[in-house]
Amino acid sequence: MKNFSYARAENAANAIHLISQNEHAKFLGGGTNLVDLMRENIEQPDMLVDVSGLPFNHIEALSNGAISIGAGVKNTDLANHAIIRDRYPMLSQAILFGASGQIRNMATTGGNLLQRTRCYYFYDKAAGCNKRDPGSGCDAIEGLNRMHAILGASENCIATHPSDMCVALAALDATVNVQGNKGKRVISFYDFYRLPGNTPHIETSLQADELITSIQIPPLEMARNSTYRKVRDRASYAFALVSVAAALEIEDGIITNVRLALGGVAHQPWRAHKAEKLLVSAAVNRKTFQDAAEVELKDAKGYGHNNFKIELAKRTLVSVLSELAESGGAR
Ligand code: SF4
Repeated sequence: MKNFSYARAENAANAIHLISQNEHAKFLGGGTNLVDLMRENIEQPDMLVDVSGLPFNHIEALSNGAISIGAGVKNTDLANHAIIRDRYPMLSQAILFGASGQIRNMATTGGNLLQRTRCYYFYDKAAGCNKRDPGSGCDAIEGLNRMHAILGASENCIATHPSDMCVALAALDATVNVQGNKGKRVISFYDFYRLPGNTPHIETSLQADELITSIQIPPLEMARNSTYRKVRDRASYAFALVSVAAALEIEDGIITNVRLALGGVAHQPWRAHKAEKLLVSAAVNRKTFQDAAEVELKDAKGYGHNNFKIELAKRTLVSVLSELAESGGAR
């Protein structure tokens, strides 16, 4: 591991000041991904600005019905919070499906958003990887790509975003509050992540000096009838092959509202807008759910080892929607 300097931020302004002094500095939260990457010399910051002591560790119900989650809230605390379990079960479930208990106890909400892909070639410094080393190629396209993207990929990168939590946050229309040298701003979850295109090394719309301070989830009564399904190679401590976060509202046999997002299939948590559009005002039946899965995966592309994900994503979508329809979507 390369030597680096360390500074503990006193407050948000101080953290932003410190990170702005060094273009190779990084914020340190729980460190559950960053420290691993530093040990492998994939990340080589000159300086770590520790933001774990900042007062961003609260979950708050706001007067407008929204929930504010501090960026420093630990994944375990968020998953087990009574309001989250009651109003947004898909979010609680998604977090508990991720990593291990020990990692969830350390990992922060803000850090979860910024974790890097688990593409094998990204971690192998002998491999070509445009994300790690722009212009060096992408060894995954002709290589072992079983875990890789089927939607929104480019000829420069077919990596997936590894988070479970972020799939639920995408479905819930969360927003990201950030603070930087130019002040504060709010970024929609949809705009926060980028597809790889020609610049897979740029993963978010966050500027180098910007610190995530909190995440906000808008009120959504229908999210009480929501769930998260994760399909993976083993029952724990594995990344998603495909996952689905879904909420469904039904009135007199007609779908009145739906939220859908997919994980394990793209460079970003994939909001299934096309499927949602088809589902709203449609009759609740298996054919409707199958049509929605078909339209969402219409442009999906496999790269050999991951071809199976296309059918798996369709079947998982249909299965999750069917389960929600049976378990309480009707009013
Ligand atoms: Fe690198 Fe992306 Fe290709 Fe993986 S898929 S080797 S992260 S460029």
